[in-house]
Amino acid sequence: MALFGFGKKKQQDIIAAAAGLNFDDEQIEEEVVEETVAAEEEPVGPSILDEVKEEMDAQKPQELKANFGKNSDGSIAVEEEQPEEAPSEEGGFFQKLVAGLTKTRDSFVRNMDYAFGATEINEDFYEELEEILISGDIGVRTTDSILEHLKEEVHNRKIVDPAECKKVLIDAIRTQMDTGEASYEFENQRSVVFVIGVNGVGKTTTIGKLASKLKSMDKKVVIAAADTFRAAAGNQLKEWANRAGVDMIGGQDGSDPAAVVYDAIASAKAKNADVLLIDTAGRLHNKKNLMDELSKMNRIIEREYPGAYKESLVVLDATTGQNALNQAREFKEAADLTGVVLTKMDGTAKGGIAVAIQSELGVPVKYIGVGESVEDLEKFDANQFVKALFM
Ligand code: GDP
Repeated sequence: MALFGFGKKKQQDIIAAAAGLNFDDEQIEEEVVEETVAAEEEPVGPSILDEVKEEMDAQKPQELKANFGKNSDGSIAVEEEQPEEAPSEEGGFFQKLVAGLTKTRDSFVRNMDYAFGATEINEDFYEELEEILISGDIGVRTTDSILEHLKEEVHNRKIVDPAECKKVLIDAIRTQMDTGEASYEFENQRSVVFVIGVNGVGKTTTIGKLASKLKSMDKKVVIAAADTFRAAAGNQLKEWANRAGVDMIGGQDGSDPAAVVYDAIASAKAKNADVLLIDTAGRLHNKKNLMDELSKMNRIIEREYPGAYKESLVVLDATTGQNALNQAREFKEAADLTGVVLTKMDGTAKGGIAVAIQSELGVPVKYIGVGESVEDLEKFDANQFVKALFM
């Protein structure tokens, strides 16, 4: 495959990324293997990242403030109080998204820009795009569909300039990601939210962030610490619950998770809670085990908490790339998934996995984790994501 334009290290990375894909892996990974941070990639083509940073920085109110009092030539201007303009909700979110996707964009956009600088649209051009999409963890199947769409459009619209393909490619990615409008109904009615995921993906952190988010929306939240298999999981969750200012119901280590759910429902009813967040076991030995566990909890909910709206979120670690996709597949077979939370988007160049998840599983990514702090959980918007990825 043509890998011209990439440094040797980059070529090796791309080949390794492509070779490492395993779509037939039937195993749920029990432990998320800590990924060593990829070695520095050789810079390819001009970086647009600096420009983006500059653009973002230019919007920071404190910097605007620092420049007050100076004319453009540096001379002192007559002081004039200017009102500080806070970034709009959407603007703030978008900036956070762009910042959170820095690593993904760093490798992805630069290579894309380089590819679109080609002189003609030919097989080499398509192969190069293919390599970039795959190495961005968009996945082989999704990449194929995206390129098929692109080739069709190029043919139909008689496009000859590679640069013109960029918009078509962005549209193709958007189309692939379409899973319909993501619903957050659980926020608006009495609901139970199951949170599923293997150890280490960021499940506890996500529950803490979500509890805090809901609390800030004036929702009454109860957390059920039903991951009783893991020593210390309860303590960690308790810390998050305290931080968020919500109640948590737990059980002894190794106790029956369904019993914890039973107690948590009683507490939720007594407090007239809006949302019951259930942390489920992260270490389950097989699919059957997981299914049995979830259906047992579901039976209790049906019996004790009828009419509660049910949401099942699987938490996946974006840094594990295709492995996250495999986990999502396994969980989808075992549970009635209604959404995905993709964590650690801030620390990975594999953010493209969001495209593969939505495209190949049809399950919407509902939230992304972009840091370790309580406020670092954002609702996911595919359009904004693609925009942020390519800006
Ligand atoms: P659990 O075993 O699935 O419950 O995982 P934890 O919630 O304990 O998280 C594992 C590690 O991932 C912790 O060090 C978290 O701070 C970290 N983590 C979780 N979410 C994010 C995120 O969105 N970004 C970053 N950078 N770290 C995260």
